[in-house]
Amino acid sequence: GKPGWRERLRGSGFARSFSGLFSRHPRLDDDLLDEIETALITADVGVTATSQLIEDLRRRMKAREFADANALLAALRGDLLAMLAPVAQPLQIDTQAKPFVLLTVGVNGVGKTTTIGKLAKRFKDENRPLMLAAGDTFRAAAVAQLQAWGDRNGVPVVAQGQNADAASVAFDALQAAKARGTQVLIADTAGRLHTQQGLMAELGKIKRVLQKLDASAPHEVLMVIDGTTGQNALSQLRQFHAAVGVTGLVVTKLDGTAKGGVVFALAREFGIPIRYAGIGERPEDLRVFDAEAFVDALLP
Ligand code: GDP
Repeated sequence: GKPGWRERLRGSGFARSFSGLFSRHPRLDDDLLDEIETALITADVGVTATSQLIEDLRRRMKAREFADANALLAALRGDLLAMLAPVAQPLQIDTQAKPFVLLTVGVNGVGKTTTIGKLAKRFKDENRPLMLAAGDTFRAAAVAQLQAWGDRNGVPVVAQGQNADAASVAFDALQAAKARGTQVLIADTAGRLHTQQGLMAELGKIKRVLQKLDASAPHEVLMVIDGTTGQNALSQLRQFHAAVGVTGLVVTKLDGTAKGGVVFALAREFGIPIRYAGIGERPEDLRVFDAEAFVDALLP
């Protein structure tokens, strides 16, 4: 397997639910299917996706397709991969866009600011001229965090301080990025305002203002989702998607206490590309989402 994934996801609810399952239930029978069903539900795969998986296995077991429990496990692996394969689409930076505008959204605490830092490092390592926009003007710490990161790494950060109009920051930043010939502009946004409607309205305004300068911007609306929030992630995505049209996902904190199954539920329900997975706190722990590495890390 790919280095890191299995080691990082070993403690996840998904991996723990499945470890030992097949040694406890080596027989190919309904009990084994019940155990798998419970494990999938417990791992946050969700009721609909779980039913779909179990029905497929039950049908194939009845058709005597599996010689033993190992063959059934291989079929489950194949089914899980098939759910993720359509969404495992890496982010492509269109270098014709001048700049490629990446708007990051997501509720507070999901890891949005650290993800921006990790992404910025990745783009910098790829020698892409880069600029950041400190658009979370609701939270002074977010502006300071982004500015500090930019100072440390020699990346320009456009900021107007706390309580500035976020759309105005985004507009300024895009203008500056165009003037400098920047290749990628990463714009941060608030994860919380006084009201949820207020937040959605602000995100919509940022998008419209960017489009005044470039009708094709933002080129990616990247939503950061905390993998430990379970099925709640689905309602978050539903809401942000309705407000700004999410084009890509980052699922963070899949190491540690995350159950991991929510990735399958997200893939099945929305079909939105999963660009990156956060499997740790170091910059190199933000991985391009690899469906095979992910599934192999979860199963025994
Ligand atoms: P924001 O409020 O969304 O901007 O969240 P932050 O970027 O400040 O991150 C919140 C916490 O999550 C920080 O302690 C990060 O180090 C941590 N974090 C972010 N991504 C990951 C990840 O993939 N794995 C782990 N274990 N922690 C993460």
